[in-house]
Amino acid sequence: MELRNKGTKRRVTANSRADRCLKGYFMKRHRNVKIVATLGPASNDYEMIRALHEAGADVFRLNMSHGDHEEIRVRHAIIRQVEEDLNSPICILADLQGPKLRVGIFANDAGEELVPGASFRLDLRDKAGDVNRVQLPHKEIFDALEPGAHLLVNDGKIKLRVKDCGADFADCEVIVGGVISNRKGVNVPDVILPLAALSEKDRKDLDFVCDLGVDWLALSFVQRAADVEEARELAKGRAAILSKIEKPNAVKVFDEILAASDGIMVARGDLGVELPVQNVPPIQKQLIRKCRSAAKPVIVATQMLESMIDSPMPTRAEVSDVATAIYEGADAIMLSAESAAGSYPIEAVTTMNNVAGEVEADPTYTDIIEASRKVTRTSVADGIVSAAREIAETADVKAICCFTQSGTTALLVARERPRVPIIALTSYMSTARRLCLTWGTNCVVTGPVDRFKTAVIAAVRASIKEGIATQSDMIVVTAGVPFNTPGSTNILRVAPCAENLIYAADPE
Ligand code: PGA
Ligand code: MN
Repeated sequence: MELRNKGTKRRVTANSRADRCLKGYFMKRHRNVKIVATLGPASNDYEMIRALHEAGADVFRLNMSHGDHEEIRVRHAIIRQVEEDLNSPICILADLQGPKLRVGIFANDAGEELVPGASFRLDLRDKAGDVNRVQLPHKEIFDALEPGAHLLVNDGKIKLRVKDCGADFADCEVIVGGVISNRKGVNVPDVILPLAALSEKDRKDLDFVCDLGVDWLALSFVQRAADVEEARELAKGRAAILSKIEKPNAVKVFDEILAASDGIMVARGDLGVELPVQNVPPIQKQLIRKCRSAAKPVIVATQMLESMIDSPMPTRAEVSDVATAIYEGADAIMLSAESAAGSYPIEAVTTMNNVAGEVEADPTYTDIIEASRKVTRTSVADGIVSAAREIAETADVKAICCFTQSGTTALLVARERPRVPIIALTSYMSTARRLCLTWGTNCVVTGPVDRFKTAVIAAVRASIKEGIATQSDMIVVTAGVPFNTPGSTNILRVAPCAENLIYAADPE
């Protein structure tokens, strides 16, 4: 009698500890790949942003190239409101414009038509352009240009070749013609630009969004690892750093950039301007594999469902492109104008969600994902997550639940690409939000956990609540004991979900 009383008391304590422990739940998605949706004029209000999240958007991208600080502030507040209302962590990625080069303005608002073979001058003169010249207000570029270099204007539609250049001008021949107009973008693929990674605007934007509270900062036109380090210094730990690969040199020194970054974006838009388009697919494949080896999330971006800007139906080729990125094991796929400025933002997210559902149910998907596992394991945590994955392949367990502080253990579990859902439990909201970008990871925010038993109960409850497991199932739980020591993952437990069995079997 006395013993039972004691048992009941202990159970009550452990129960309430676990209850206090689970704060925020995730919205269970039936897919591994994550969806990033860019916000813009087409997705500005609470109803739309909530509907996008409910349709499948795990991450929202705030594009700092468009929209002023006030608009960004409003969008940010709405996302956090949706997060609170649905009690499910949402990741916010702020994308800095970076050193994007633009020409000045033209006397004629409609711009000018450049014809092949004509001469065209770019210079530093702050004077409206005409058919013979326009301002390119970036002094550093003229220092770096050499005869023979190519300049691409307006997403590569116009191609110029430098014939002669000096400190403040470049005389070019028009190779491919077209209309050039106010503030069109310029790409200089052949030259490593002596530009600071972050412009004045970027620095202001960075501080602004970090103060608002974003989870990831994306850096545009990264050229070298030092660019990433510079941004990291300015971010001061307020956000994780994601490098957009869109310059030939970034592809060349990718290993160093990856080592310096927390995540990567295959930014196919500018990459396909700076390099021949046919180079993009192999680069995409290589980058995805390298990121997985490094246990860092990778986003495949741009033109995934481009036709859905104006159409409720994607093309077959677009569906195939989305599927390919998923088969390759990308962590996330992204919508740009489709969700920011198109007529069918929800349909675009739904399309990605549906394609992911079909691809991930295909046994070929599992074969490809498992055949491409290339992992060098060096730490105890590496061994534990690999064992967790093997157990999930050997026995009927329903989930791998990992307690993680910095998120590293969850990233290592995700790198294994297990067949069962990953539940990442963390007491840090910031970690939960960042992990929303990572393949297969469902995030749960807990209160402080200081005992393994409480951890196991919290993991069981989270699995049952989301319908991943039932009382008669088993799950794998990993954690680090003592708790609250980052990087200490050292326990693996196969736990039954029937609560009376947990209480009976687990040490305090
Ligand atoms: P952007 O980056 O949309 O900011 O240009 C993505 C890309 O270039 O693909
Ligand atoms: Mn870009």
